[in-house]
Amino acid sequence: MATDTHSVFNWQIGREMAYPYEAPPPKKQVAWVFDINKCIACQTCTLACKTTWTAGKGQEYMWWNNVETKPWGFYPLGWDVRLLDKLGVGNWEKGVYKGKTIFEAAKAGERLVGVQPEEEDWAHPNIGEDEIAGGSVAAGDHITDVHRIWMFYLQRICNHCSYPGCVGACSRKSVYKRDEDGIVLIDQDRCRGYQECVRGCPYKKSMFHPRSRKSQKCISCYPAVGEGYQTQCVANCIGKIRVFGHINPPDKARDDNPIDYLVHKAKIALPLYPQFGTQPNVYYIPPVHVPRQFLFQMFGPGVPEAIKKYRTAPDDEKLRGLLVLFGSTDKIFTRFKVTSGEAIGYNDKGDEIVRVPITEPTYRRPFFDEERNVYRHSIT
Ligand code: SF4
Ligand code: SF4
Ligand code: SF4
Repeated sequence: MATDTHSVFNWQIGREMAYPYEAPPPKKQVAWVFDINKCIACQTCTLACKTTWTAGKGQEYMWWNNVETKPWGFYPLGWDVRLLDKLGVGNWEKGVYKGKTIFEAAKAGERLVGVQPEEEDWAHPNIGEDEIAGGSVAAGDHITDVHRIWMFYLQRICNHCSYPGCVGACSRKSVYKRDEDGIVLIDQDRCRGYQECVRGCPYKKSMFHPRSRKSQKCISCYPAVGEGYQTQCVANCIGKIRVFGHINPPDKARDDNPIDYLVHKAKIALPLYPQFGTQPNVYYIPPVHVPRQFLFQMFGPGVPEAIKKYRTAPDDEKLRGLLVLFGSTDKIFTRFKVTSGEAIGYNDKGDEIVRVPITEPTYRRPFFDEERNVYRHSIT
């Protein structure tokens, strides 16, 4: 383990761990929940981010938001499997991770275990798209609860981690976490382009700009967030799979905070590779059809309970109502209520932001329209 470390509590791995810097919690922490089950890989989120932030020269291969097909898609190539290989298998016992995080596995004199992609590894963001695992379709195959042949889409942005690898890796302290909202940014004036953050981010969400020769990353759309709007990748999501807000630590979780409710109360949204140890703040509702062993490796031991609870949503008015609020507004709602068949979102001041029916009303039109003297094939 590296020297000069501090001990911090990481609730996602259920224990204290070593981290290169003191890391007092910010006043607030931005967070996202993505429902993997609803994503159609249209890449609208990817383009929304790209056209807003990374359309400049030298940013051609810079995708702060990407959607890759698992298990064969990677951006950059092999980003997760290369690190998993280095860390080895780590067991979980009763919700506590017994293996080593990227910080704890560091050799003497190093801050963390990292992987430095080659330039070519960034050049194929669509590699593995729609490729399936589990062989090919055979005669007589049918859909089972957990699919024999499977793939799913993984939506990826910077996790604005509580213990960021990029911050921990940077010897110049050019990468910092804002105290007001936990957003992780790179100071472009301080950065010298050493790429330690690129190597140190286990999710490979810090990227090198070959023209400015500095590193850049997702900025959590902070100008919009500051004005009360959800991030571009959330507001433009066609599948309405995303919601943005703020998360509290588990002991301060609120029943009426949408992110707290999904992560800490209903426990249906889980962090990506919690074993890396950065306490990431993008949470995923795991895909219900994927073999559990694969999901366990990716989202930790909470997977079976998360899927079980998610399946109760049709009969759980509060959970269903909250899921209906995903994608219902471009404004940030930090509180929610579900009542009398409606889901309502409020801002910090308690002002109503959005109100939607939990069940969409349907209208049945007559097969024969007398007024127009026509028959209809579609009547609902
Ligand atoms: Fe998936 Fe939404 Fe992105 Fe489309 S816009 S790829 S549905 S996350
Ligand atoms: Fe840093 Fe990577 Fe975490 Fe983003 S995902 S905060 S770039 S370690
Ligand atoms: Fe891009 Fe903003 Fe989404 Fe970050 S939060 S990936 S900057 S759209």
